[in-house]
Amino acid sequence: MKTRPCWIEIRTRALSDNFHFLKSLAPADAELLVILKSDAYGHSLEICAPALAAAGAKWMAVTSLEEGITARALCSGVRVMVIGGVVPGQGTELVKHDLTAVVWEPAQLDDLAVAARATGLGPASLPVHVEIDTGMSRQGASVEGLGAVLGHFAPDSPLRLEGVMTHLYAADESNGVATHAQMERLQQALAQVEAAGLYPDWLNVGNSAALLSGANQDIVALASRHGMKAMIRPGLALYGLAPRFEPADEAQPEKVTASSAHLEPVLTWKTEVIGLRDINPGDVVGYNGTFVATEPMRLALLTVGYADGLFRNLGNRFSLLVRGQRAPIVGRVSMDHTVIDVTEISDVVEGDEVVIIGSQGNETITAYDHADAAGTIPWEVLTRISSRIQRVAV
Ligand SMILES: *Cc1c(COP(=O)(O)O)cnc(C)c1O
Repeated sequence: MKTRPCWIEIRTRALSDNFHFLKSLAPADAELLVILKSDAYGHSLEICAPALAAAGAKWMAVTSLEEGITARALCSGVRVMVIGGVVPGQGTELVKHDLTAVVWEPAQLDDLAVAARATGLGPASLPVHVEIDTGMSRQGASVEGLGAVLGHFAPDSPLRLEGVMTHLYAADESNGVATHAQMERLQQALAQVEAAGLYPDWLNVGNSAALLSGANQDIVALASRHGMKAMIRPGLALYGLAPRFEPADEAQPEKVTASSAHLEPVLTWKTEVIGLRDINPGDVVGYNGTFVATEPMRLALLTVGYADGLFRNLGNRFSLLVRGQRAPIVGRVSMDHTVIDVTEISDVVEGDEVVIIGSQGNETITAYDHADAAGTIPWEVLTRISSRIQRVAV
């Protein structure tokens, strides 16, 4: 069937190259926990999980049990971690699908222990990672309340503390002050873990920013002081975009600029011209006539709209690529359609490919360009691309 022409191309080669490059930034005994939440940042879990497994990824992370079950069905030989928090009642399914939970509430641990015992698991046989709140106040056990959590790893418990996790909330701030404070709190937590006679394998800390800036060296050092190995969790960088460091109007840290040059965007978003029309001075374009022609113009109709994830506020203030040139969006972006001005671009015909994110000729539009124009971040641009758009591996 010929489908509506709006699609995403995923370069699995770029994904695997990015993975290998990021792996090279970490020491040999550290692992990458590749972040595949929210349908692999809009890149398709179905395409990306097997591609990363083939590239050598041993650990994958998703947000929910549902995503975990999908990832498990796609990849059998890898560890799959559910990092978004498990809801009591999910323990049995987690165990059944061989998923590793990140937990921080006693109730979550109780639920897992019950599920593990019910499946006949012996002492210390179900690995779990405990998250510590080192300053983000979003999730994780507080350093003060950690004792109650660690009590769940008594020798007769079926649970085994395999990893200690925390999330750095400002790894993209060049001065590193917040990260330093978080690492101090993490160290206090690790001292408690040791005092409780527990020896986890992994210190599970750090995102793309930590990996690219070199902050991962501190994580690795802290891990080795406690006889642990570092597990670092890149998301955005895996998909070929480097986080932008704060303050954004200052030069980016040198290490980050150097590493960014090795990353290659994985996703290209395309659509097609499905119609052309000529309009006259005085004609208006789109809902509420926010664009009024002042001269004769040639317009191209595209089959992409805000329901596909093209931000509606880009109307009259962003351009897309056709025939290797920038064509401004005119009028409002509609739910399923957008109109661009091709007056200055000769020979545009129906069926011409239009690039929304990606390169065409010598021009490139990045997820950052969309984010800057829409007043958001590339993470949101990528994850807002609608699931109704087909992803194809190329
Ligand atoms: C999403 C996420 C990451 C990845 O962050 P990036 O900035 O995309 O690299 C790492 N850790 C946790 C807990 C996350 O939720």
